[in-house]
Amino acid sequence: MLTTPPFHNRFTEELGGATLDMRKPQQVTDAFYVPCLPEKVPQPRLLAWSDDAAREAGLPSLGDDADLRQKLAEIFTGNESLSGMNPVATVYGGHQFGHWAGQLGDGRAILLGETAGIELQLKGSGRTPFSRGSDGRAVLRSSVREYVCSEAMHHLGVPGTRALSLCTTGAEVVRDMFYDGHPRSETGAIVCRTAPSFIRFGHFEIFAARRQTERLRQLADFTIRHYFPEIHAARDPHDTKATYLQWFSAVCHLTMDMIVAWMRVGFIHGVMNTDNMSILGLTIDYGPFGWQEDFNPVFTPNTSDREARYCFGNQPGIARWNLACFANALYPLIEDVPALTSTIEAAEQYLAKAIQTMRLGKLGFDDASDLLERSDATALTTDLDRLMQTSKIDFTLFFNMLADEDVLDGTLLDTGAEGALGERLSSVAYEKLGDDDLGQWSNWFAAYKRLHAYHAKVRNRPQAVSERHQIETLCANNPVFIPRNYLLVRAFEALDEGDSKMLDDLMCASRAPYKRLTAIDVYGKRPDWAESYPGAAALSCSS
Ligand code: AMP
Ligand code: MG
Repeated sequence: MLTTPPFHNRFTEELGGATLDMRKPQQVTDAFYVPCLPEKVPQPRLLAWSDDAAREAGLPSLGDDADLRQKLAEIFTGNESLSGMNPVATVYGGHQFGHWAGQLGDGRAILLGETAGIELQLKGSGRTPFSRGSDGRAVLRSSVREYVCSEAMHHLGVPGTRALSLCTTGAEVVRDMFYDGHPRSETGAIVCRTAPSFIRFGHFEIFAARRQTERLRQLADFTIRHYFPEIHAARDPHDTKATYLQWFSAVCHLTMDMIVAWMRVGFIHGVMNTDNMSILGLTIDYGPFGWQEDFNPVFTPNTSDREARYCFGNQPGIARWNLACFANALYPLIEDVPALTSTIEAAEQYLAKAIQTMRLGKLGFDDASDLLERSDATALTTDLDRLMQTSKIDFTLFFNMLADEDVLDGTLLDTGAEGALGERLSSVAYEKLGDDDLGQWSNWFAAYKRLHAYHAKVRNRPQAVSERHQIETLCANNPVFIPRNYLLVRAFEALDEGDSKMLDDLMCASRAPYKRLTAIDVYGKRPDWAESYPGAAALSCSS
């Protein structure tokens, strides 16, 4: 028996919808959503269920009840509905790769409803009025990526949408993975993702572009009322502009916090279009994302992004660009360009400080307040970037190495010869280190040690206390596990053959990404085969 809390949906209850032919591609010009049922699937099968995400939404844990498993598969592929669910596809627009793209909307996502303040959305559940001639479906390959990564991000401490379930549909979906004229059939799948809200910047941009200021205002008021309750409570009805500005500032800060978290774990989103920017600062739309492995700030995993607009190092600047688009959209409600501009500038300063604090945190400095202005601290982080890049060092493994005992106590360096250091660095590098590189690394480690000594001295910390702080900070900021693309490839290839062991292993590691679990082989650097393997090294936009 499945008992669930009652479903409802504030988005549909409080905002207006349009009753239109739900599968016909069309411009939806005077509504927030269109009621739209998921298209039925032939053979739903539940591959994975997150008890943890379920708990958040007041839904049951899975256990080993086969009937429950099948029931959940039927519901979370959209074949069956629960009482109170009122499925809709929502209207939004967006700037894609720097250009206004007009109406986009939920082309393959359907919002089922909400429970316990958590919305449930199916991704891959068939056509909607926003499918623009496409099929509204998703494949197992991309769905495994979304499922694993969104759960990992949650436990990594990166704000994001979560994943409740991963199902296959029993229907094949044809995809041309690299848009190069080689379509093939793939297993169809649906992820149910969850978030307090799926509202994006693009939800506001579409009404601004259409000059529908009252709709814009309605959506802004709705968002503030439900998701920014402190701003709502403190609002002055005679000064709505101040409220909207305060809210804009809050969105700027949430967005920047998300970016700092991405940069900390080495995440590259891959498609930071404004339609993929959550109003709550959540990572959303896991498509051609990837990770820093051999460190390279201009790396993007998205092969469709030929100019590397959305590469790792551009993410802070793109966040600003996207916030400027959002500011433009809100202009009719605020009508104060200097105030909007200075709010963005303040958020940029906040970001710069937060990034440097985070970077020093990754180096084990628990309190960076007095280090932010120091040139030796800045040099330490910029030199590290340069060295990691020239030596092709694995981002995650390098920071893990800093918590090793002989690095912490300095014995690795004190041996005199650079041989030991070279060997250790080579184990986390993708190329053999040259002698010149080693000399520079040796200097870097000496500077690193000096800054820690200074840090301990100004805090009056005895060595043991200082070391304890250092190790705690290193371990809290540097995950040992990230769902690297090659691991996700291995998981979905095994799943396609009916073997779920790799998926299970990845989910175990995802739930404890700061702890190395024994007997799970997911912590190594990217193997050679993955360097050019489709879906591991290179990904394209939609799949
Ligand atoms: P994305 O690149 O995934 O952020 O998607 C951009 C737009 O294309 C959104 O409006 C999506 O809903 C839509 N879209 C992506 N894939 C599909 C698909 N398979 N069928 C219909 N619409 C899609
Ligand atoms: Mg999207």
